[in-house]
Amino acid sequence: MTCHACGAPLAATAKFCHKCGAPVGSAPAAGWRVGLPWGVAGAALGTLLTVVVLRLGSSAGDGRRETSDETAPASRLPPPDISQMSPEERATRLYNRVMTLHSQGKADSAEFFLPMALQAYAMLPALDIDGRYHIGVLDLTGGDSAGALAQADSIHRAIPTHLFASMLRARALELRHDAAGAGRAYAEFLRNEAAERARRRPEYADHKDNLDAFHTQATQAAGRTRAR
Ligand SMILES: [Zn+2]
Ligand SMILES: [Zn+2]
Repeated sequence: MTCHACGAPLAATAKFCHKCGAPVGSAPAAGWRVGLPWGVAGAALGTLLTVVVLRLGSSAGDGRRETSDETAPASRLPPPDISQMSPEERATRLYNRVMTLHSQGKADSAEFFLPMALQAYAMLPALDIDGRYHIGVLDLTGGDSAGALAQADSIHRAIPTHLFASMLRARALELRHDAAGAGRAYAEFLRNEAAERARRRPEYADHKDNLDAFHTQATQAAGRTRAR
């Protein structure tokens, strides 16, 4: 057996080419999505991120935005300078891209950007609570309840009453079909909601729609619990 990409001789059991990293036995075009080894994926990611960010930077009307440069009137702003974009901004753009595609029902495209978004967050030197929430939501989008619970725990340790911790926890436990655990997380959210939202944390303003939607669901869940 030889590598279809570079022609190197391969062991019969090889899943990836030891020389160029191409996956064995699948079309080259689909290769990197199927699962490149991390070393190769990491090397390719820099290029890929630049391309993606360039595309994100040049496209307008892309759905909900978080970064302040996009909420200001466009006429007063120069076009986004990719080289000046911080790693945090790049990560946020990729998060927004995944969420927009996901909400549009474009699951394949969302799945395409999901590992890039997670990798962009993994490269950040430090994570604030909003960043942790984004990672948790991305984890949930990918079906990774353990990852989302880990972010919920980190947020909870930093600020025990933070609403994002209850939100991630409830969603992750629902993913695990743990109705009792999800019910406790909904109840915790409702218990802390008034005091927390009165603090006017900036991340609550960014995610007002998520908070409002979650409030409705938490209230319905509490109603079901009482009815039992
Ligand atoms: Zn090869
Ligand atoms: Zn956010």
